[in-house]
Amino acid sequence: MDTPDPSEVIERLARLRAAMRQRQVDALMVPSADPHLSEYLPARWQGREWASGFTGSVGTLIITPEFAGVWTDARYWTQAEQQLAGTGIQLMKLASGASVQYVDWLASQLKAGQTLAVDGAVLGLAIARLLQTALDAKDVHLRTDLDLLEQVWLDRPALPAAPIYEHLPPYASKSRSGKLADLRGAMQQAGANCHLISTLDDIAYLFNLRGADVNFNPIFLSHALITPTRAILFVAEGKISAGLSAALADDGVDVAPYASAAAALAALAALPADAVMLLDPRRVTHGTRQWIPAQVKVVEAINPTTLAKSRKSEADAAHVRAAMEQDGAALCEFFTWLEQTLANPDRAPLTEVEIDKQITAARARRPGFISPSFATIAGFGPNGAIMHYRATAARHAVIVGDNLLLIDSGGQYLGGTTDITRVVAVGRISDEQRRDFTLVLKGMIALSAARFPRGAKSPMLDAIARAPLWAEGMDFGHGTGHGVGYFLNVHEGPQSISPNTMPDAHTAMEPGMITSIEPGLYRPGRWGIRIENLVLNRAAGQTEFGEFLDFETLTLCPIDTRCIEPSLLRDDEKRWLNHYHATVRERLSPLLSGDALAWLHTRTEIL
Ligand code: ZN
Ligand code: ZN
Repeated sequence: MDTPDPSEVIERLARLRAAMRQRQVDALMVPSADPHLSEYLPARWQGREWASGFTGSVGTLIITPEFAGVWTDARYWTQAEQQLAGTGIQLMKLASGASVQYVDWLASQLKAGQTLAVDGAVLGLAIARLLQTALDAKDVHLRTDLDLLEQVWLDRPALPAAPIYEHLPPYASKSRSGKLADLRGAMQQAGANCHLISTLDDIAYLFNLRGADVNFNPIFLSHALITPTRAILFVAEGKISAGLSAALADDGVDVAPYASAAAALAALAALPADAVMLLDPRRVTHGTRQWIPAQVKVVEAINPTTLAKSRKSEADAAHVRAAMEQDGAALCEFFTWLEQTLANPDRAPLTEVEIDKQITAARARRPGFISPSFATIAGFGPNGAIMHYRATAARHAVIVGDNLLLIDSGGQYLGGTTDITRVVAVGRISDEQRRDFTLVLKGMIALSAARFPRGAKSPMLDAIARAPLWAEGMDFGHGTGHGVGYFLNVHEGPQSISPNTMPDAHTAMEPGMITSIEPGLYRPGRWGIRIENLVLNRAAGQTEFGEFLDFETLTLCPIDTRCIEPSLLRDDEKRWLNHYHATVRERLSPLLSGDALAWLHTRTEIL
């Protein structure tokens, strides 16, 4: 979606306020969410963007007759200030770790008897409960049955219609019927005989299907209802071919129209009185929850598929290792091109946008590549310090002069999802930059080399990567790592190495999980550093204290030793780095030739 002109935003707000008056609504909330609580929203559900002009991926718009504001966190403040200028919409700065601050604001601003409207279809159940409690206390009415956007957004995009395809063996290492059998076992254990799944990566995983309904994540819009004997997949008509439909039917999967999910759930009321529904309150919206008839008993627990999906099989891991080799080889070719281009005095100025293009082109030459796994972040100097920076045709830097260049990028391959950040020196870099880089590297090595009990809560591991920075009075403002899917979402739960995640039982580290390790350091206006590898949880022995795990580093790409201050590294840290570089050289050499192979040799020299 293009950013609208401020005058357009003012006009849209006026139409929304008119619709509010007509329906006797005193405040309207527009979250950034879809009916599946997805990270990337299909255009149809980018209503907060449409109404406010703010295009950041996270933000909540609230409109009253005399006020309009967008609540968003520190990553987006600069962008929001620019995009909201002239619209009359205020930027409401969310403090870190207070992602639902607007609930308090609403409770304090609205008066008894007034009405807040939110489209329940896109309101997470957990947030709905928070809102309900806060508003009940003030005698404010919450309406979730109105979609006011539908009334005023005349050219609202339709549902995405990309075809759905099978994720086939050997890449899909476990059969659909096998996964369904496991899920039914978990349902039985939970005492449930039906289960609704709304989260799109869980559905894609369960049925070994993929789609292209949003950028970067190979998922498709759907709901799924599982019973002991049948499974129903609700998708828009025309997205599943007759052949695929027949293959699904062979595994006991019926395909039904996307819009019929509500009616199918309502029909559960007709079942014998013992229908028990397993439902994950963090993975359905309030609107979807309303579809379930009151007489159906609901057991709330995490989706069993969320846990199963996070634990990659040994066969999956083998495919991921192969995808990492291709990805690493693509990066070596890219970095070779980058250094040659920068060294050529006659070249046209190199921009951050060109870097994005070249890195994607290098990946696209590799077998099994499907798409980037997120929007490339290529930030030179000060831009490297802006988290979620995205160079655009209209606004980007030219790579000129001495500074650090941060590149965070990734690919979707049939055999895995990659996500890697490297920082490289451009020109001459300073002692201060080398010290910063080395401290971040020490954090990455510390966590990469850690051993920990199986079942350790993943958020607890965050401090291990931060300790070398803390020792010097430094810190960084994001989590150390996130789970990563298998040819699925680059951000996947339930594990998360972050101080912002509650260390509850679901965050436990289990064998087969893939997670990123990506500590950083950001000096606003000067430079940013982040070093990111993906790691796999593997068994690391049994002691009298129990079972232990450690990490196998999956990502294969040289770390720029020109940015290191060697005197700051201990011997064991140097050994880790030298061993890593020896592995990178050994595994990538067969996939490279010519200049790129020579570059790999140079950049994997012993330190
Ligand atoms: Zn990344
Ligand atoms: Zn990452």
